[in-house]
Amino acid sequence: MANNQIKKIGVLTSGGDAPGMNAAIRAVARTCATNSIECVGINQGYKGLLDEDFTELTPRAVGNIINRGGSFLRSARCKEFKFPEVRQKAAENARKAGIDALVVIGGDGSFTGALKLQTETGIPVIGIPGTIDNDIYGSDYSIGFDTAINTAMEAIDKIRDTAAAHDRIFFVEVMGHGSGYIAVYTGMATGVEQIVMPPKKDKENKNIIPDGDELYDEIVSELQKEDGRKKSSSIVIVSENGKSIGERVRIITEEVKKRMPEKDIKETTLGHIQRGGSPTTADRVLATRLGTGAVEGLLKGEYGMITGVRDNKIVYTPLRDNTVAYDAENDFDVKRTHEIIEEFRRVANIMNI
Ligand code: ADP
Repeated sequence: MANNQIKKIGVLTSGGDAPGMNAAIRAVARTCATNSIECVGINQGYKGLLDEDFTELTPRAVGNIINRGGSFLRSARCKEFKFPEVRQKAAENARKAGIDALVVIGGDGSFTGALKLQTETGIPVIGIPGTIDNDIYGSDYSIGFDTAINTAMEAIDKIRDTAAAHDRIFFVEVMGHGSGYIAVYTGMATGVEQIVMPPKKDKENKNIIPDGDELYDEIVSELQKEDGRKKSSSIVIVSENGKSIGERVRIITEEVKKRMPEKDIKETTLGHIQRGGSPTTADRVLATRLGTGAVEGLLKGEYGMITGVRDNKIVYTPLRDNTVAYDAENDFDVKRTHEIIEEFRRVANIMNI
């Protein structure tokens, strides 16, 4: 499609919601208006494309939302979108509504669907990383991450007060899916005694960070070292297992209690509070830049890409680097990783003297 043929852009939020998504929608709508392009909000992610649930997004329709958490277009999971015939139907509905291109705000699952939609139907798409997990390849940060770590940091500061008053060991589970970013950032910012990264396997399917006795013994051995340091409390951050919220910290706490029956040990799961709240300055600014960057990217022909920020510059990276599974038929690649830089963990360890 020639870029001057884009007359109407659709925008949707999909998958897990993240604070700052509203600021991104606002930026998309206003950048469209500046370029004399109509903007249509698609309610409830891909589901809204199937239900033809659309809302006109004029510059004024997106007023007073930059400060609101969640997504006013609402986000949804749409399992049927995994079927090609359903994506054909979605494309038909988009064309019927005059939508020439699509901005998808979400995580790697949403990007997988977006790339398939573009490949199979020819509708140009561009992604904006919106996830608290910060696990999107091609952007140093994703929308919602900064708000989530600030929420987690405040909560852990409060837990520290009560832990110190009673000489307790606290296990605190944070979100972050497989990335461990929330754990590392909040762990460093709150000075916790240990950070337990998400379980991880290497290419040969061998455990690098295991769940099981090896991990529990290591945690206990570290806690015993704490005893010699005369600290009044110990906090261990546990990254979720990505399957069931609160499950990993519960199992770890039980196993450590068995090994240290004399200690006063508690567990807390921060859970969905990490997803909510008014976005921080950093998230509002990031979302605004990425929303503008996405529309400008489409106008420059950056189709099938995500808009990201690297070294504080707007960059475009192929969506295929963020698809979740290898799909031989369509030659989609496995998701590339966005690793925690080793320096973070090294510094956190130095602080733990
Ligand atoms: P996130 O985008 O936050 O990673 P999900 O993994 O739940 O969230 O994906 C959000 C939506 O993206 C799904 O409900 C589905 O509509 C679509 N999606 C996810 N994976 C695929 C896939 N393999 N093929 C097509 N669509 C997908």
